[in-house]
Amino acid sequence: MIGIINAYRLGGEVFDEASFELLTAATGQIGLALENARLFEETKTLAITDGMTVLYNHRYFLECLSREFERANRYKRPLSLIMIDVDFFKKYNDTHGHPKGDDVLRGVAGILKKSVRTSDIVARYGGEEFVIILPETTGEAAFTLAERLRKEVESTDFPGGETQPLGRITISLGVAASMEGVTKYPDDLVKNADNALYRSKEEGRNRVFVV
Ligand code: GH3
Ligand code: MG
Ligand code: MG
Repeated sequence: MIGIINAYRLGGEVFDEASFELLTAATGQIGLALENARLFEETKTLAITDGMTVLYNHRYFLECLSREFERANRYKRPLSLIMIDVDFFKKYNDTHGHPKGDDVLRGVAGILKKSVRTSDIVARYGGEEFVIILPETTGEAAFTLAERLRKEVESTDFPGGETQPLGRITISLGVAASMEGVTKYPDDLVKNADNALYRSKEEGRNRVFVV
């Protein structure tokens, strides 16, 4: 049951059988319409959500990035992107098994989500990679946030983290900021953040690079 309808009749007469049947049919239709609306909302949410981490999925990330990129360009506002990759994650899976690896991904996702503003978009980019869109945020501010995220993950005690090469579960991050006239497409921002992330890995992991 999702609701109750109370019907009254002016003058105090009782409803006859036909009225009652009409009302029953109408409430059935109303109930169905409400249930369909609820299901539609649920389906829309599922379509943009990554089931495992409950973050936004890759498709929604692309949609948001293109929207935010246009908006930033039109109004000449700053926009930044952070790409994140879990360090030596294959090793963690190999040592502790895939289900424990999934727990780590959920844990990292939770840290990212709780550390950003509600206007920021945190998504699972793929496997053990995450991405954050930061509207109204300069590269400098994005770097500060990225560094905070890095420290937060590093200081979290994940079960079995001690067997990792760095002695803990850590993440590497790459930051890119949109530059007026230089960053022409949303994809440039992704490429730059990805290059910065690559530098973080090269330089030893558990660090942040900006381009
Ligand atoms: P690096 O520090 O260079 O990033 O090393 P890495 O081992 O993290 O990198 P690599 O790309 O070799 O391995 C990523 C691993 O992430 C391999 C894959 O099994 C694991 N992975 C990807 N998606 C998932 C997932 O959904 N769950 C679990 N448990 N593991 C995943
Ligand atoms: Mg990776
Ligand atoms: Mg990795």
